[in-house]
Amino acid sequence: MAEARRELAERSRAKAALIGARVAAVTVRDTKSRWGSCSATGRLSFSWRLILTPESVLDYVVGHEVAHLREMNHSQRFWTLCAQLTGDVRTPRLWLKANGARLLRYGEGGGEGGGEGGGEGAEMVSPANDGHAETP
Ligand SMILES: [Zn+2]
Repeated sequence: MAEARRELAERSRAKAALIGARVAAVTVRDTKSRWGSCSATGRLSFSWRLILTPESVLDYVVGHEVAHLREMNHSQRFWTLCAQLTGDVRTPRLWLKANGARLLRYGEGGGEGGGEGGGEGAEMVSPANDGHAETP
């Protein structure tokens, strides 16, 4: 987990520097429904499970969230920025579509799913007001 955080934080800051953006903080947690999110205040949040994905996928998700530091939307300008930050956007997106949901649930015990779920959800950034979140 600490390793995942360092890797993701380093990559985020390097990419942010490329487009003159600033990362306020990088958080890594075990999110069950999304790979990353970006808040309006520049806080990036990632799933530690990204270290289980191919390197190109990890790179894409980091690039995607960093691009949101400049464009808090999925406009054409956003995708141009995204392509600047990560070489190939298409392949990782297809990979996530095919494998993403399964991998987010990988290793889940299954016993205590329902009870604690509400608390985790409340902690997440809401795309409607405070920022942006990915749906795989
Ligand atoms: Zn996005």
